[in-house]
Amino acid sequence: MKQHPKDERTLVVIKPDGVQRGLMGEIIRRYENVGLKLVGMKMLVPSERHVEAHYTLDPNWRRVTGEKTIKSYREKGMTPPSEDPLEITAKILANLKKYLSSGPVVAMVWEGAHAVGIVRKITGGTEPLSSDVGTIRGDFVLDSYTMADTDTRAVRNLVHASGSVPEAEAEIPHWFKQEELTDYRIIHEEILYDVNLDGILE
Ligand code: ADP
Ligand code: MG
Repeated sequence: MKQHPKDERTLVVIKPDGVQRGLMGEIIRRYENVGLKLVGMKMLVPSERHVEAHYTLDPNWRRVTGEKTIKSYREKGMTPPSEDPLEITAKILANLKKYLSSGPVVAMVWEGAHAVGIVRKITGGTEPLSSDVGTIRGDFVLDSYTMADTDTRAVRNLVHASGSVPEAEAEIPHWFKQEELTDYRIIHEEILYDVNLDGILE
């Protein structure tokens, strides 16, 4: 059965810096404000193994993230740390394992129309230096690839958000058991999705 677009789900993880910076409420508020529905949430300290498995669920992640880093350096007229995308991501992955397992994170599943795309838009681009103003990564943090590479660490950008629907479909079961997600109706949906708007007037 084909799902209705409003039933799309995505994974968001508030990374350890988001928790430490006291931004949990602000981050949740932004996804809530747009009309998305929170269907699962928990705090945990992920193991390095869990983090590595999370990032390598998508077989293309190593190549794509390496290429994205090289492109960003070039656009700034700078020389990337390596010409080999896989060499770049091997380092990124090692640093990401340290970053994400350094303290508690908050994992969440959000549901609603175009949940994946809407959450990415609100979250902003990967590198805070160039993330748009108005996004979480653009408004609340100031890191860059150069900063991260100079200090041999991961870019600190407050949140993880699934990059595509297939990525979300692979990531959600990696973080949540079926019974940890709740199917329920929220009153907002009557206005967001009701076709006839015939339930308002007495
Ligand atoms: P996104 O989180 O926006 O989907 P990626 O999937 O490409 O970004 O990368 C995963 C995470 O790895 C990023 O959020 C960031 O924390 C870190 N990261 C990505 N590229 C680099 C880099 N060049 N140097 C350091 N850390 C990086
Ligand atoms: Mg990603």
